[in-house]
Formats: sequence, structure tokens, C-alpha cells
Amino acid sequence: MTDMHSYDESTDELAWQIFRYALNRVRLDPPPLDGPRSAAELDDAVGSTITAEGLGGVRALQLFTDELAPSCISTDHQRYLSFVPTAPTEAAALFDVVVGASSLYGGSWLEGAGAVYAENQALRWLADLAGLPPEAGGVFLSGGTAGNLSALVAARHHVRSVTEHQPRRWAIVAASSSHSSVVAAAEVMDVDIIEATVDDQRKLTGSAVAAAIENAPSGTSVFAVVATAGTTNLGIIDALEGIGEVCSRSGVWLHVDAAYGGAALAAPSVRDDFIGIERADSLVVDPHKWLFAPYDCAALLYRNPEIARAAHTQHAAYLDALVGDGWNPSDYAHVLTRRARGLPLWFSLATHGTEAYCDAVEHTISMAQEIAAEIDADERLELIVDPPLSIVAFRRKGWTASEYGEWSQRLLDSGQAFVTPTSIDGEPALRFCIVSPRTRVEGLRLILDTL
Ligand SMILES: *Cc1c(COP(=O)(O)O)cnc(C)c1O
Repeated sequence: MTDMHSYDESTDELAWQIFRYALNRVRLDPPPLDGPRSAAELDDAVGSTITAEGLGGVRALQLFTDELAPSCISTDHQRYLSFVPTAPTEAAALFDVVVGASSLYGGSWLEGAGAVYAENQALRWLADLAGLPPEAGGVFLSGGTAGNLSALVAARHHVRSVTEHQPRRWAIVAASSSHSSVVAAAEVMDVDIIEATVDDQRKLTGSAVAAAIENAPSGTSVFAVVATAGTTNLGIIDALEGIGEVCSRSGVWLHVDAAYGGAALAAPSVRDDFIGIERADSLVVDPHKWLFAPYDCAALLYRNPEIARAAHTQHAAYLDALVGDGWNPSDYAHVLTRRARGLPLWFSLATHGTEAYCDAVEHTISMAQEIAAEIDADERLELIVDPPLSIVAFRRKGWTASEYGEWSQRLLDSGQAFVTPTSIDGEPALRFCIVSPRTRVEGLRLILDTL
């Protein structure tokens, strides 16, 4: 029998190979962009790897290095500009190795006090940036999708516990520009979405929210409003102050989805655009997007964590030992066992200090502005909106959806950049989402030249 749980000479050799791989990958600048292969191609190149006797670590690592890793796009590449990229700091990426090696249990204070203590300082930094009160708190979880769901579950639990006459249906007010995960959460929760219209600047406003609440179908009660601070397609920040006022007045929970844009709370040049975010009952920010943490890491904060605790704490005889003093992260989301996934962010923040974060976010915003001005001045191109944050959306005049698609594929195949088409106002468009301080305006120009 192979002894899998012992550290012997061959484990040692494998360990150094793994560390060398990890270190090289972190140091590569840029890493190869790489790209997907079909399952059939992977069948040819890799085939079946799970065997009765095992391949041995050296062989398995070689397959990963030579075939599997290059079949994944490097999402931290400086010219990966699709969706929302990632840009972990060296400190954060390396510390993730430590988190993985340490069997930290991030669900409870009893088991993970030190880890949770450190994570909570990182959460506090975010809460302070947003202007949330001292008692605010929450949990790091896998992503904005899980964060939005957990926040909305807490909101509904709360309204149910304080409402005498339950309506036939509960509903969330959200704009069509809100993230797809909001609709997904409503589906899971079996609640309705009332779509509120955005204004001519594409922002959700207080008056639109008020109208949506008032015009809810009879028998339907609105329990939460989702405002977005940095929409995924364009980076639009909804009119948070007005929305917050309407929510307070109507006693409706305000959830602010700042999964992408929340990082810009650290950027003085745009901080005023977020005024009103301090009114949020719950807030999601994804450090794995624009706060330089590796996947996966989302921060969920509550103004009043007690409400979330009432909604999310699991009760069982085998969990009774966890009840007591200390912060149990699993009390604040739909989760129990949890990787201490806020630790890489904490380590990098502790290492570099918050000013480095402010500067890095500010730098990406200024690159977005610079390239937007050049796009605006280029007669082949049409800038769709002045970038509110670090997303630059534009069109190549006269191009069809299939021309964008073919161009995007060629660009990826050439290893130059990854820019996928999107659609805005029903028309195809392109967007550069810039989160990496390694991105260079010169590199963005070269992409424009290929249009
Ligand atoms: C990316 C994003 C999400 C989803 O976050 P995941 O981490 O991908 O689950 C939610 N809302 C907004 C505004 C986003 O940009």
C-alpha cells in the first residue's frame, strides 16, 4: 500500500518541483496568455489520469505544467481585459500557498481564531472605506454571487421576522443593469424581481426605486433593493444617496453590489461618486476582482451583523461547541466549512499598507481615462460612455457582431490579448476592463491598432 500521508524523500523532491512551479508562475510577467482547447484535444494530449496505481506526482505535475495549465487563459495577464480580470499581488498569491498548506478552518472562532481575527481586520478596512458603522462585520466567501445571495437571504429573514401579515409574494427591486447573480438569487429564494428603470445616465435612482416599490403588484411586498456600485458592463455607479433615502423611508433593505467597483472606494478621485454607500444594510466587494487578491475572495459586510446571524447560523448538536464568544464567519453566510480566503488579501494589505492599494486602483482608473480619450479622438471608434471607473466601452464603427467575434478570436489565438465582445443597448460593443496595474496604455493602443 502506498503511504500517502508521509513526508519522505520522493515527497521532498515533489515539494520542490511544486514550489518551483508556483514561484515561476508568480514571477512570470507576462505569463503566456494561453487559451482553451477542446475536450477532444485534451483527450489526445492528456487522456485518463485517474488510475488504480496512480501516475506519481512528478508525472501528474508534468501533465499539469505541459498540457492542463496552458489550456487555461491567464486571467492575470496584463492584456486580459474581458469580463472582470484579476491581478493578485505577489504577496497575496504566495500567501495563498500558505493558506492551502495549513488546513485552516475559517468557519469558526474556536478553530480559526487567528485567521478570523486577521480576516476581520481586512473586512474592517473595507467597512471603513465604505463608511459603515463600527459594529458592521461579515465574512469572506467565494464570490459576489454567493455574497449577493447570502445578503438577500438575511434581508428576507429579517423582514419576515418583523412583519405580521406576510404578503403573497416577496420581491426585490433591481435595475436591468444589475448583475445576473441577482436574478439567480431571486430564483433560488423563489422571490420576484421588480425591474426599475435607469435614468439617461444609466443609473438607478431613488425616484425609480420609489416608483417600483409603489407600483408593486398587489399582494407583493418589496423587501430589498439592489443597487450596483460599478456595473459589470460599464462601471456605472447607481445614485446611491437617493436610493438609500428611499430605502430608509420605506423600511426596505438596501443591498449594494460593489463586487467589481467597491475597490474604487480606495481611490480619492472617484470616492464622491459612491456617496450614499454608507447607508447600505449589506455590501459585497470582490477582492479577487480589483483588490489584487487571488481567486476566490469576496467580502460580504452587514451594517447589523446580528440580523445576518439570525438568518444564517446553523444549529445542531454537533455544532453546540461553537456557540460562545468570538466571531463565527459561518454565521454570516450560506456556508459552514470555509477556507480562510480573506487571508491572502489580509497578508498583502499588512505587507504593503493601504496607500499602495489606493495608488494601484487610482493608476488603473487613470489608464482607463487615457485610453478612453484616445478612443474618443479616433474616428474609426465610438466611445460609449466616459468611463466611470476602469471599464472602457466602445465600438468599432460599422462592425457587425460576427466581425467582433472573429477579431476577438484572432487576438486570443495570437496570444496578444483577450477582449471579448459584449452588447450595449442591444448593439455589439467592446470593453476593456482594466484592473491590473501591470497593464500599459501602449499595449492597449496596440490592440486598438488591430481594429
Ligand atoms: C462579478 C460580479 C458579480 C459576481 O461575482 P462573482 O465573484 O463572479 O460571483 C456580482 N455583481 C457584480 C456587479 C459583478 O461585477
